[in-house]
Amino acid sequence: MNRKGYYGPFGGAFVPEILEATFDELGRIFYQAKADPAFWQTYSDLMANYAGRPTPLTFAPNLTAHFGGAQIFIKREDLNHTGAHKANNVMGQGLLVQRMAKRRVIAETGAGQHGVATATMAARFGFDCTIYMGAVDVERQRPNVFWMQRLGAEVVPVETGTRILKDAINEAFRDWVAHMDTTHYVLGTACGPHPFPEMVSFFQSIIGREARDQILAQAGRLPSRVYACVGGGSNALGLFHGFMDDAVELVGVEAGGHGQASGRHAARLAWPDASIGVAQGYKTYFLQNADGQMRETHSVAAGLDYVGVSPILSHLKETGRVRFEAATDDEVIAALSLTMQKEGLIPALESAHAFVQAFKEAPRLGRDEIIIINQSGRADKDIFTVAEAFDDPQWRAFIRAKAEKYREI
Ligand SMILES: *Cc1c(COP(=O)(O)O)cnc(C)c1O
Repeated sequence: MNRKGYYGPFGGAFVPEILEATFDELGRIFYQAKADPAFWQTYSDLMANYAGRPTPLTFAPNLTAHFGGAQIFIKREDLNHTGAHKANNVMGQGLLVQRMAKRRVIAETGAGQHGVATATMAARFGFDCTIYMGAVDVERQRPNVFWMQRLGAEVVPVETGTRILKDAINEAFRDWVAHMDTTHYVLGTACGPHPFPEMVSFFQSIIGREARDQILAQAGRLPSRVYACVGGGSNALGLFHGFMDDAVELVGVEAGGHGQASGRHAARLAWPDASIGVAQGYKTYFLQNADGQMRETHSVAAGLDYVGVSPILSHLKETGRVRFEAATDDEVIAALSLTMQKEGLIPALESAHAFVQAFKEAPRLGRDEIIIINQSGRADKDIFTVAEAFDDPQWRAFIRAKAEKYREI
């Protein structure tokens, strides 16, 4: 990184002038914390005793035998409290909010996972919490809305624009401008204006630090390749951090949706469909039209369904340090199925993208080689989507019976 959060030509902080002092304060507090070994200790103690870290690195003997190539290890971010790596980021930001002596947090959420994680953190730290969510997403993601409210957060349905994630982001910024003295905006991934990409990946680096120690302890050597799915890029950067300076190939897997030809996907770096632009406060590759209008993206995994990507990853793509691939919705369902049946693990639909690519490559690698797949989360939240993908008649009957019951009351 060079001046003001640039990674090569990517990144920066394109924020309204009125927020500049708030960003400066956030940066100051973050760099103080980052330089303070006691802060990392406090953070890892919190993660150990509240969130369940360190998460295990699990050898997958049955998948390894099935593919007959590389030894497959899985980093278990699904075992974090709230079911994904998102806890690493929100709890870290919670500690920074304490340091800034603020008492209110806001966030925006699409699928609701980041909203639930933020509401959880706010409950634990005693902060007021407001979550902005597109009105369309509020309807689509009722279970997460329910949990956020039960956790004590106020969920605000955003009725402007197309009433989805990007509209919620605008609304959250508006709130921040109006309440910046008391309020911190908890960004959910390694995107947005500086210092967020660096800050979020700093907290997520706990994944890679642990994974490196664990593979050395268990196997006595480093992997040849590591795989992570890429939405905004935070779990991938977290895992990659541990192996950045090693002779380890880093592979990021994006949402291929219905395939490149369909145009319905969210592959910004794997396929040449995106172009460089500035939006939402930072410069990166966006899926946009020639006139800079954001395109509609699609993925079976809500957490990967996003037009932008971390500026750090855009830079690592251009320097060639990270290789990017894409997995289609159909491949993802097949990989999820196989992983459940072979290992009894239930990766989130997002995480299953990384499994797809690892499964394509494992057979071609030697039996003495090691690969690590990041299981960024668990699939409990995906039960409706997965049941639909399998077109399960018993599930359909179950939903119909529930609907019937609610019609009566
Ligand atoms: C949110 C989410 C992602 C995508 O976010 P990144 O910032 O790219 O890591 C991936 N996996 C799971 C389980 C998620 O909840």
